[in-house]
Amino acid sequence: MKVFIHYEEPAAESLRQTLKITLPKKWEMGPCSNLMDTFIKSYNAKHPENQMVASQYRLETEMRQVLQPHTTVCEKVHDRADLYVKFGSAPAAPKPMQTVNNDMLDPLDRCRACKLFGCNKKYTERANSDDACRHHTKPPVFHETAKYWSCCPQKKAYDWESFMQIKGCATGRHSDIKPGAAAPLGGSHVRGQTATDPKLKKIEDFNAGKSDEKPLDLLKRALVAIGCSADDFEAAREKLKEKFKDDEKEITAEFCAEIGFGLHNLIGTTQPATGGPDPYGGPPQFKPPPNFAP
Ligand SMILES: [Zn+2]
Ligand SMILES: [Zn+2]
Repeated sequence: MKVFIHYEEPAAESLRQTLKITLPKKWEMGPCSNLMDTFIKSYNAKHPENQMVASQYRLETEMRQVLQPHTTVCEKVHDRADLYVKFGSAPAAPKPMQTVNNDMLDPLDRCRACKLFGCNKKYTERANSDDACRHHTKPPVFHETAKYWSCCPQKKAYDWESFMQIKGCATGRHSDIKPGAAAPLGGSHVRGQTATDPKLKKIEDFNAGKSDEKPLDLLKRALVAIGCSADDFEAAREKLKEKFKDDEKEITAEFCAEIGFGLHNLIGTTQPATGGPDPYGGPPQFKPPPNFAP
């Protein structure tokens, strides 16, 4: 598991730092404070002029969730996550009894955090029900200054608070399985849905006899292999088939454009410091008005 830790707050660019950490396996079950300590150690070694004290900073996820130092890494941090070091210690949260004894509880009574898009509520399986969770069905998009859920593109927000208030478009049970990850997909999903599927292990199998496979079929297999929904892919394809009257070339071009757009979203969210506003709501930068005279 790898994580990227960014410290972007100092005004001077030379004082900012991004650290990529490859976590030892046992750290995944360890506290988030290990991540912070590693970052601070590396930072202080590089910046003797700007020493940081771990207790004065907190770690946040890209969703601006504060990671308490004692939180178990694998509970809140996913592989390749971007984490942010922010000034100000984590608000004191007394260790809930549930966390301490969670593993000893009946699985029905364990405290879980819902991982569905836009929910984040704590729940127990015992109290879960078919309409307990209001969530979004697709991941968030941060594009330029707009923030929205890709399932609800018509509802755009321009600051974090109103973004988090966009009501979920779907109801269902809370779930602690991340949508889109190696989650168990429905039976209608094609084989080979995860990278660990033995059917995808052999590259020869992948290549053998597939030379006449359409690029879109190839794309679908690749997307399904990383956990995307095969049903969604087919639904999109059907829609484009209708729109472009079965013209495979046009359909492929449209997929290419959409995926390109998605990639730009990713670039936009990982490199906010290109002059645009910080999509994570960092401290506002002072910009003098045009007629500003010091
Ligand atoms: Zn939605
Ligand atoms: Zn939920």
